[in-house]
Amino acid sequence: MNNLVVAKFGGTSLADASQIKKAASIIKADVSRKYVVASAPGKRFSDDIKITDMLYKCHKKFLSGEDFNDVLEKISERYGKIIEELGIDFDIKSEIETIKQNLTSSEKFQTPDYLASRGEYLNSKIIAKFLGWTFADASEMIFFNENGTLNEEKTFYVTGEKLKALDCAVIPGFYGVMPDGSIKTFSRGGSDVTGSIVARSVKADLYENWTDVSGMLSADPRIVKNPSVINFITYTELRELSYMGASVLHEDAVFPVRKAGIPINIRNTNSPDDKGTLISASLPKDIKRSAVTGIAGRKGFCSIRVEKSMMNGETGFGAKLLYIFAKNDVPFEHCPTGIDTISVIVNSALFDSKREEILREIKNSLEPDFITIEKNLAAIAVVGEGMVNSKGMAAKIFTSLANAGINIRMIDQGSDELNIIVGIDEADYEAAINALYSDMIK
Ligand code: ASP
Repeated sequence: MNNLVVAKFGGTSLADASQIKKAASIIKADVSRKYVVASAPGKRFSDDIKITDMLYKCHKKFLSGEDFNDVLEKISERYGKIIEELGIDFDIKSEIETIKQNLTSSEKFQTPDYLASRGEYLNSKIIAKFLGWTFADASEMIFFNENGTLNEEKTFYVTGEKLKALDCAVIPGFYGVMPDGSIKTFSRGGSDVTGSIVARSVKADLYENWTDVSGMLSADPRIVKNPSVINFITYTELRELSYMGASVLHEDAVFPVRKAGIPINIRNTNSPDDKGTLISASLPKDIKRSAVTGIAGRKGFCSIRVEKSMMNGETGFGAKLLYIFAKNDVPFEHCPTGIDTISVIVNSALFDSKREEILREIKNSLEPDFITIEKNLAAIAVVGEGMVNSKGMAAKIFTSLANAGINIRMIDQGSDELNIIVGIDEADYEAAINALYSDMIK
């Protein structure tokens, strides 16, 4: 039983009146859901435009001196329809007028962040009205430092105190306030971060993140047909899979709740009976899961293989090599070593822009026998807490890829033994994901 739940609803969950009604019945179905964080209305169908994107467009027009009234009018109409269908009394025209006046009156409001934030601001006010709850503005609770980082201490304290004084509240996601009083947004998708901050501040028992999928999938559905949903996942596994390209939450949304040990539950607004994915520090004791939790990967890597005989006797060779990449602002992703070889695996696009400098420096300062560059590599991570204690995981992965006729060009096992990463040709990427999914998860 959860006593206090923070529920965040994403853009598709609040895209129109019928979605807002679904969200409202979810909220009202459990009295523990006392604080709701709302996104701006998202897409209703695939070619639709998100309110946030319309607001950015409006700002662009404003900056270039074009007439932006047509965009504001469309935004007003979209909210107007929502208000009408919800049957509430809400003066959207005067709200839009205020935004327009702000935009034309003071520099403080002439930023893209101010305008973009109005999407969640208006939606949260409307939803609060529909629920009969209090609207609690993020600009009075979420504080940024001068350098744009979150002022955690002040934010957690003020948000906690303010919300404690309210029975139930709707909080707009995506933005907070700078020390000079101007509005600043998180990066795109940032309402997830607001939800996590609110959950941490009120010391919630659970942070629910309501979206349009029934949880995180164990493989990319664009590659694997109907991959299974991951019911339980640890924060660490999530981090590894997200890093390799699986996305379900804004990356910065994990840290506030993780520090406080608050689990996150990804749920589907369109299918509220599904249990979704529960993300927590450790797995529930009685849970039986397969050793592998998920598979994710990315294309677009290349490998720079440096060979020099007797390299292993040369102290600092690896450090010097990696420093050359660091100095050129090219982060390394993996670094498998042999006796007389080191390979540095990097993002191809980043490497290509610095290729000449990096190769020249390697030649000059390390005097290698050979440098070989292999392009068009993809990396695939097989991730799972259970892999540490399972024998033969590597053998299974290699057999699976061999049976699919795929050549492995790099192998890297994370030192936490939570993942095994293989490098393959980009052309084999889809086949490899499918083979690994059917042999390791299905
Ligand atoms: N509305 C913002 C966006 O579209 C933030 C969010 O929905 O999380 O990125």
